[in-house]
Amino acid sequence: MIIFKQVSDLVRYLSQQRTMQRKTGFVPTMGALHEGHLTLIRESRQQTDITICSIFVNPTQFNDPNDYKKYPNTLDKDIYQLEKAGTNVLFLPSVEEMYPQGLQQLEHYPLGYLETILEGAFRPGHFQGVCQVMSRLLNMVQPDQLFMGQKDYQQCMVVKWLLQHLGMNNTTLVPVATVRENDGLAMSSRNMRLAPADRNTATTIYRALDHLRSHLAAGDLAPGLQQAVAILDGAGFRVDYVAIADADNLAPVETWDGKQRLVALVAAFLGEVRLIDNLVITQ
Ligand code: AMP
Repeated sequence: MIIFKQVSDLVRYLSQQRTMQRKTGFVPTMGALHEGHLTLIRESRQQTDITICSIFVNPTQFNDPNDYKKYPNTLDKDIYQLEKAGTNVLFLPSVEEMYPQGLQQLEHYPLGYLETILEGAFRPGHFQGVCQVMSRLLNMVQPDQLFMGQKDYQQCMVVKWLLQHLGMNNTTLVPVATVRENDGLAMSSRNMRLAPADRNTATTIYRALDHLRSHLAAGDLAPGLQQAVAILDGAGFRVDYVAIADADNLAPVETWDGKQRLVALVAAFLGEVRLIDNLVITQ
């Protein structure tokens, strides 16, 4: 695995690879890697010739400075795991390398309703930050395929929008199913921050989503949502939202016609750790 820290070195290397017709796959991450990330790497290895992973904890997408400060860093272990998984290139830029003009007066992306709902509503500016870092990374890597986790359902939609906005028709977004622990908890770098006593409780998020799936019936969705909130409240979560939305565009759905494809989404705090998860609840 080759590690690049400078954009110019990465870009030079990848342009050489492109002249040899090698198909590239890109897996952007913020590190503290787990099986979810490694599944994206394996998917890329299967579908492309060269797999590039980036590790960069992007300051502009954290609306909570404490969350940024406390974001886990396990770089040595990450490098070992990436190497073992057969990653070809690791890009490890500094903040200065990614934002040479500084962090003030960054560009704004007209995301429309995608940033006023769900994560957008509860984390103001978050998706602007995601677009700011992703537009830079995409511009540097110019991948044929971009692998991202459905764990971050809304982020996948934002990045799909961004690819269109940037006119990057040669890059295909490949969404990858959420990887879970045996008890259903979606793998997340933030799980490391859970107090040991909270680790078991954390699986309640999956139970709440599964409740919505198993109790889904045509008609008013509000009672099911109230039950899911009660399940989370009862376990000690502080709920940001529990929502059911159109699985294709995330438009809120209050009454189900029995046909529309639906996704249920949850964001909730356990202690000071904010967890998100989602599940497509229709067949
Ligand atoms: P992060 O390091 O949290 O920014 O995540 C980097 C990529 O890994 C994103 O595309 C995430 O959606 C994806 N990812 C994170 N957790 C999981 C998971 N449990 N299953 C599948 N993909 C994941």
